Amino acid sequence: MSALSSPSAEAGESYDVVVVGAGFAGMYMLHRLRKQGMTARVYEQGDGVGGTWYWNRYPGARCDVESMQYSYSFSDELQQQWDWSERYAPQPEILKYANHVADRFKLRPDIRFNTRVDKAVFDEAANSWSVTTSDGKTVAAKFVVLATGCLSNARMPDIKGLPDFKGKVYHTGHWPHEVVDFTGQRVGVIGTGSSAIQSVPVIAGQASHLTVFQRTANFSIPARNAVLTEQERQAFRAKYPEVRRFAREEARNGIYTEMPDRGALDDGDNERRSKYESRWNRGGLTFMSVYNNLALDQAANDTAANFVRDKIAEIVKNPETAKLLQPNNHPIGSKRICIDSDYFATFNRPNVTLVDIRSNPIEEITANAVRTGGRDYEVDALVLATGFDAMTGSVAKIDIHGRDGRTLNRKWAEGPRTYLGLMSAGFPNLFIITGPGSPSVLSNMIVSIEQHVDWIADCVAYMRDRGLDTMEADGNAEDKWVAHVNEVAYTTLYPQANSWYMGANIPGKPRIFMPYIGGVGPYRQICNDVAAKEYEGFAMTGAARPRKMAAS
Ligand SMILES: Cc1cc2nc3c(=O)[nH]c(=O)nc-3n(C[C@H](O)[C@H](O)[C@H](O)COP(=O)(O)OP(=O)(O)OC[C@H]3O[C@@H](n4cnc5c(N)ncnc54)[C@H](O)[C@@H]3O)c2cc1C
Repeated sequence: MSALSSPSAEAGESYDVVVVGAGFAGMYMLHRLRKQGMTARVYEQGDGVGGTWYWNRYPGARCDVESMQYSYSFSDELQQQWDWSERYAPQPEILKYANHVADRFKLRPDIRFNTRVDKAVFDEAANSWSVTTSDGKTVAAKFVVLATGCLSNARMPDIKGLPDFKGKVYHTGHWPHEVVDFTGQRVGVIGTGSSAIQSVPVIAGQASHLTVFQRTANFSIPARNAVLTEQERQAFRAKYPEVRRFAREEARNGIYTEMPDRGALDDGDNERRSKYESRWNRGGLTFMSVYNNLALDQAANDTAANFVRDKIAEIVKNPETAKLLQPNNHPIGSKRICIDSDYFATFNRPNVTLVDIRSNPIEEITANAVRTGGRDYEVDALVLATGFDAMTGSVAKIDIHGRDGRTLNRKWAEGPRTYLGLMSAGFPNLFIITGPGSPSVLSNMIVSIEQHVDWIADCVAYMRDRGLDTMEADGNAEDKWVAHVNEVAYTTLYPQANSWYMGANIPGKPRIFMPYIGGVGPYRQICNDVAAKEYEGFAMTGAARPRKMAAS
């Protein structure tokens, strides 16, 4: 039994905390809450754990942060005992890991699968949330934690004729559980973001013909994926204490890597080229940390972007195709940089065609073809690699009512507003994990997830220990934080890109730079300082001691 005074629900079921989502965030949140003796119920709309890795089963899906780092750090036994097979584990292995964690920490009994949370209403009289699920039940909870994921709301493109297409249609973010084999088929892939960049080389190896429909060319760096030897795993495990400390406290993006101390223009042409070459050969996301000003200075950024454009021209034999594949409308890194295995070389295959749908947008999808530029590209199957309504999409699908019946969707109509990405004023006792206003998608997300979960778990324990009833972001603190998030974003090149960080991939979504770009380490320090100052910037109330904290 929890020490919190759990509210009573009409339906009778009542928890200290309801957690929405059973991806890496929801699973760890449940583990932490149970460890501190609280009752928690997790709702997950899928029929298994793993979130991203449960839904994204497309061919070639794998992580782009190295697996030895893209993994939980909260249990040393777990990180010492789990064997990652490759530098970047494929999706089935990451899903297996998520299932292993669920079993190892006996999480399943507190998770309700196949159950979507549809509505959450704050009852001001009872200081509790009333949570309604897709099975028609309502439960009460003192706290609600949205672990709904930043990339969990697959975006279906609105293309004329799509419902009339006679072949199979797949979305990379909602892939079937059974094996999909494209052997002998003519396949069309729409979109050229990260999921397409991972899946195109694999689909090209199966399909009789693959047509890739590209609106925006993206920068991609070779992954240089490889099998991990036991020796390599052991060497990495031995340095885990330092790797994890660095990722949490010092890294800007939660990844252990060298910190550059020079800007790109501090080196001469030859020296710079040789550094880029060496990172290109090493592979992976750390390409962007060769220099310390690539995200800040256009001229510096151009040197890296030109290097990658030259590489594309070297790899792709047909000069027209190479030109189309060279990104030219955003600074490198201002959209999440992609990591690939032979993506550009795939366009040298005789069975692969690239179609530019920026100059000639798709006019229509017919029963058996994609029509663009007055031409029909016949296909038997379509793969929609069209991404997600990122960061806010899954939150917006829940009908959330805070104080005075105000909905979160109405409050966020002009863009999301949070304090520290953790709470939104007017919605007491409602936490968001890796929400807008936190480093989130700009980081190794497991590092950010663990930081948020720990902070929230400590916070609810603090409230329990002091008999506090509600906690809520202070409006002024929120305004200042939103201004700070924007200010920092606009000191960088990021807002120049029409990216999903800006909501630019969703028609009608407000253009606001959503994640906090100030860095994982500094952000953690800010959150720790706020907690140390008894949750400065949050208003707390309780029978024992009502109080209001002022923002600094
Ligand atoms: C293809 C792909 C590759 C990625 N690779 C990396 C990587 O290499 N490194 C990295 O740092 N990040 C990566 N990410 C980001 C990834 O989303 C995070 O790393 C992490 O898995 C997020 O975990 P989460 O628990 O916060 O969210 P998710 O894994 O998205 O889980 C959220 C869960 O909430 C459930 N849910 C949502 N709404 C409701 C509701 N109303 N009711 C019930 N359940 C609900 C969803 O079904 C989902 O299962 C990748 C994302 C994608 C799509």
